[in-house]
Amino acid sequence: MGGILLTMLDLLNIPPSWEKQEESIRQRIARGIHWPEIPDTLSEIVSLVNNSTNQMQKDTEFFLQNLNMRLCDIQDFLAENKQRAQQKQASGEHLDLAVKSHIEDINQRLNSGANLGELKGSIEQHLDQIMGEIDVYKNQENELDEETLESVKALTLRIETLEKEARVIRDNYIETKEQAYTDTLTKLPNRLAYEKRSLQEYSRWQRYRNPLSVAVCDLDLFKRINDNYGHTAGDKVLKKVGDVFNKCLRNTDFICRFGGEEFVILLAETSLEPAKLAMDKLRRSIEESPFHFRGERVVVTVSIGLSEFTQGDSLEKVFERADKAVYEAKDLGRNQVVTRTIEPN
Ligand code: GH3
Ligand code: MG
Ligand code: MG
Repeated sequence: MGGILLTMLDLLNIPPSWEKQEESIRQRIARGIHWPEIPDTLSEIVSLVNNSTNQMQKDTEFFLQNLNMRLCDIQDFLAENKQRAQQKQASGEHLDLAVKSHIEDINQRLNSGANLGELKGSIEQHLDQIMGEIDVYKNQENELDEETLESVKALTLRIETLEKEARVIRDNYIETKEQAYTDTLTKLPNRLAYEKRSLQEYSRWQRYRNPLSVAVCDLDLFKRINDNYGHTAGDKVLKKVGDVFNKCLRNTDFICRFGGEEFVILLAETSLEPAKLAMDKLRRSIEESPFHFRGERVVVTVSIGLSEFTQGDSLEKVFERADKAVYEAKDLGRNQVVTRTIEPN
C-alpha cells in the first residue's frame, strides 16, 4: 500500500515550495504505514494537492476518494476473511471434539465387555456419525472457500479499476505537462520550455565550458503578410516556418517559438562561427521556401541576431546581445544574420 501512495506522490509532482510537507508524508509512508493511518494520510495528500497545484486537481481528488473507498473494501475483505478463518478453525475444532468423543465412547464399549454383536452395531453407529460430522465439516469448508474466492474476485476487479484510473491520471498528467511546454500553433516548444532548457544548457556551459550560442529570429515585415493576406495566412506561414526550422536544425539544437513571429534557438556545442554558418543556411531555407497566397508567390524572410556565451556571461546578457543584433539586422535591411560578441560601450 505504501508503494501505491509513494507512486501517487511521484505523479503529483508537488511544486518545490511544498517539498517539506511532501517529504514529511513520504517519510511517514516509508517508515511503514498501518491501515488505521491510511485515511488521515490520504486527507493530508488531498490537502497538499489542493494547496499546491491546480492542474488535475479534480481528477486527483476523485482518484483519491476512489482509492479511499477501495481501501475500505480491502479492509472489509480482510475482516471477512479473518471471520471465515475463525469459522473454519471453529468447525475444525468441533469436528475434532466430535471424533474424539465418538472414539471415547467406542473405547468404553470395548472395555465394558459387551458382546461382539452389540460392539459391531455400536461401532457402525459411531462410524456413521463420524462420517456425518466429516460431511458437515466439508460442506462448511467448501462454502467458506467459495465465499473467499468470490470476494477475492470482486476485490481484484476493484483494484484493476483503480490501476486503470491511476494510468489515466498519469497519462493526462504527461499530456498536460507536454501541452504546457508546447506552442499550439507550430507545435514547437514554447517560451516556458525555453526558460527551462536555457537554464539546463547554461548550467552545462558553466560546468564544461563547451561552446554555446543563442539565436533570436524575427520574421521580416510579418505584419504586412497579415495585412495583405489575412491572419489565417499569417498563421500558416508561422506553422511552415516552424517546420523549416525544425528540419534545418540538428537534434542537439533547441528551437522554440518565443512569441508572435519570434523564434529562439540554442545551439549546443556550437561556437559563433559555425553557428553563423548554420543560421545563414536557415535564413536561406526560409527565403527559398515557397509560400503561395491567392495565386501569388510570397517571399518570407527572417532576420537573425546571434551571440555566443563568453566568460562572465549570464543567460540574460547573451540573450540581450542576440536581441540587439536582430535590430541591427533589421536596420541593415533585414534578411540577414548579425553577430554580437561583446557589449560595445
Ligand atoms: P519587422 O521586420 O520589423 O519585424 O516587422 P514586423 O511587421 O514583423 O514587426 P512587428 O513587430 O511590427 O509585427 C509583428 C506582427 O506579427 C504583428 C502581429 O500581428 C504578427 N503576429 C504575431 N503573432 C502572430 C500570430 O500568432 N499569428 C499571426 N497571423 N500573426 C502574428
Ligand atoms: Mg517581432
Ligand atoms: Mg518581425
